Amino acid sequence: MTALPATAAAVLDPVLEKAARGERLDAQEIERLYSLPLPDVAAVANDLRLARRDPNVVTFLIDRNINYTNICNVGCNFCAFYRTRRQKDSYTLDYEQISQKIRELEDVGGNRILMQGGVNPELPLEYYTGLLRHIKEHHPSIRIDAFSPEEVLFFEKTFGLSLDELLDVLIEAGLDGLPGAGGEILEDDVRAGAAPARIRADDWFRIIDAAQRKGLYTISTMVIGFGESYAQRARHLLKIRDQQDKATQDYDGNGFSGFAMWTLQTENTRLHGKAPGATAHEYLQQLAIARIALDNIPNIQASWPAQGFKVAQAALYYGANDLGSTMLEENVVSAAGGHDRHSVTKRELIRIAHDAGFTPAIRNSRFQIIEWPNVEEVLHQSEENREKERAVGAGR
Ligand code: SF4
Repeated sequence: MTALPATAAAVLDPVLEKAARGERLDAQEIERLYSLPLPDVAAVANDLRLARRDPNVVTFLIDRNINYTNICNVGCNFCAFYRTRRQKDSYTLDYEQISQKIRELEDVGGNRILMQGGVNPELPLEYYTGLLRHIKEHHPSIRIDAFSPEEVLFFEKTFGLSLDELLDVLIEAGLDGLPGAGGEILEDDVRAGAAPARIRADDWFRIIDAAQRKGLYTISTMVIGFGESYAQRARHLLKIRDQQDKATQDYDGNGFSGFAMWTLQTENTRLHGKAPGATAHEYLQQLAIARIALDNIPNIQASWPAQGFKVAQAALYYGANDLGSTMLEENVVSAAGGHDRHSVTKRELIRIAHDAGFTPAIRNSRFQIIEWPNVEEVLHQSEENREKERAVGAGR
């Protein structure tokens, strides 16, 4: 933990002073942050961000979301993406359809796919292992971060393998990472209200822990707006921080690569009108508190799909050091509303970071910088090239 120099010295609240000194906060102290003026909390969060990551740089990833099936038997009340098998617009992609999407990603210089789906009871284990092998054979430069803990829990129950055996099979077939989707609020009271059949917190951590032990990439997540209390939010952050301590110590540093947080979207879902959601103010407050609480996770993402580009730019001064990724295709947040944009081009993310006062850098999924784009050249690229880039996202 890094103590801060002078910029947060004007903050008077003892909890913020403690955080500014780089000292770890407990649950009650984190909860107290919600009652303090946001500018004060943001100032400390921003100073901690500047101390923990390169203060001049904002990173992002060129990737694509691929949702291989929307058939799901979990039926979360907050989900507008899933379908039952009998619904006309249900789908499962075949390998060639997925390959086509990856070729489009390769055309714009992408290096990883984030591949998740519904919990589809009709797909055998061979669909998944065959898919991973197909991708590695035809797209060897693409990293595959795939399957949420919810999907893995289903595989475990269905395919007659222990969690360790299952992960070994998936890794052998080509799996590089297990994204931490489905974190929402890792408190079972909240989860049971929003989605009775949803994976519970203990299973989420058990699966993430096994993935980290096996060296897989993982990321921590949080969604606010279910009506959860500040105490529940604080406990969610502490559980993530505890897991990160454990992974860092026991798994040779292979903990969460970062933290991503967004706000609940309820359009077209059964929670519409029942869950409060969260305003931009609450989003920025929660982001700043996460930066302060998660002293062992250096990379914090701003969420443009849920909050839009302008709030994402502001988030870079509330503790975030990263703009997430291009996605090219986002189906889950967008099905439930979200902001009016569900993919973004490399050029747009460069512009967003540049206009906010930072040097943009392209990273891999482990937050290692792999390219320093020529900002002037990219921002002045021809209209023809811009159209080509935009067409990839639109052509899904
Ligand atoms: S959030 Fe995931 S698990 Fe829940 S219904 Fe939607 S696709 Fe299924």
